[in-house]
Amino acid sequence: MSGIALILAGHGSHVSANTAGIVWAYVDRLRSWGAADEITACFWKEAPAFSQALDTVLADDVIIVPVFTARGYFTSEVIPTELGIGGDAGTINGRRVQLTPPIGEHPRLRSIVDIRLRETIDEHGLAPADSAVAIIGHGTRRHRGSRDSAREQAQRIRQLNWFREVVDVYLDDEPDIPSVYRDTRAANIIALPYFLADGSHVRQDLPRALGISDLDAVNCVNGRRVYYCDPVGSHESICQVILDLAREAGLPFSERKPACAWSGFPIAGRNALLAALASWKTLQFGQVMVDHRRVWHCDNKGEATEFASPAALRAFLREDPFRPLATSADLPAGWQVSLEAPEQAHAVLETIFPGLIADWAASERGALKIEALTSIGKRQSGMFQDIHRLPIDVIKKALDKVCGGCIRRPTWWPAAGQAGTDLPCRAACNLWLSTARQLGDAKL
Ligand code: SF4
Repeated sequence: MSGIALILAGHGSHVSANTAGIVWAYVDRLRSWGAADEITACFWKEAPAFSQALDTVLADDVIIVPVFTARGYFTSEVIPTELGIGGDAGTINGRRVQLTPPIGEHPRLRSIVDIRLRETIDEHGLAPADSAVAIIGHGTRRHRGSRDSAREQAQRIRQLNWFREVVDVYLDDEPDIPSVYRDTRAANIIALPYFLADGSHVRQDLPRALGISDLDAVNCVNGRRVYYCDPVGSHESICQVILDLAREAGLPFSERKPACAWSGFPIAGRNALLAALASWKTLQFGQVMVDHRRVWHCDNKGEATEFASPAALRAFLREDPFRPLATSADLPAGWQVSLEAPEQAHAVLETIFPGLIADWAASERGALKIEALTSIGKRQSGMFQDIHRLPIDVIKKALDKVCGGCIRRPTWWPAAGQAGTDLPCRAACNLWLSTARQLGDAKL
């Protein structure tokens, strides 16, 4: 197939819905603009995994935009390795794959930083001459370049002589966040998270390190007034940054208007799903039922809430309580989606179980690429390196604990069997890897 796929690569989380949630919000907006033929996301901690992303789309050209604030360990090492490309571009099975710079490096981020600072001084009537600015980046000791974007923003604002003092501080590097109280003197501190998601770092970790408790009020710490800004990633123009990066990588300008809210999805597995629907009339994926007219939860009782958009359905199923594993067997009931055309069934299933239908279809035609734990352990450079060397009893315990509550079957583990597996799992997911690592560490 020809066409262009746009994939946003984010971090995801096991504890906060917002980390991947903001990436899905970008995806929704880009789909509403008809920005590319297929648009989706992939994550380190949630589904679909980086390593699975290319198999969810059918386009010949794939552009991947890292939704990270800085070039670092994930953008330079993890994402290219998991995608199987040597650097920023490669050809995989005849498809051209391009990885753009992370969105945090884009020049448009400067104006978003300036807007956030301007909003804060205007809202509170602050005098810049009495105010210090702290640009708070993530940083990581594993990659020195991860501080570059936040540091460059701080240098740029410092050179403007706009504020009395400007510092850059880091959640996971030096100088650390509390150093802002030591290294500045101004009565007011404007703390700007150079983060994308309004997730656990922005809502919990940064405030804790700053010593503030009420994110919507002015906090007093060490005799200083602290004004905590919204993160840069929640600004509405971030999607324009993503489009700029994708266009620099070859995405053509497009005026396409999508047919409906369920357009612009990745399409791997769609034809197989339609063929199965034509044959069987009704299909079941875990707790989800599908026919030509609607998609619904098998345990619906009484009147079900109708959802008309991917964003609303995703929020209902994923956010409260947060379900980091899309295929966990605790899918909330009480909903349905009426279909305007059978093709929409695929988009609805993709919203509920990102990446699942592509794997199901590959399995149906005997082409699912199953990845053994050994292969995952060997290509890792971080905490999952050598995960395959964990004792068997730890691996089995993790299988019981995590996979026991999942609608997929871990076909990557030989003892799980493969015959009759209608929802196979091709590789250990991040939740399994994290749990196994914790169990292994606890045993040491
Ligand atoms: S079967 Fe296990 S490893 Fe696969 S997605 Fe489910 S919980 Fe994760």
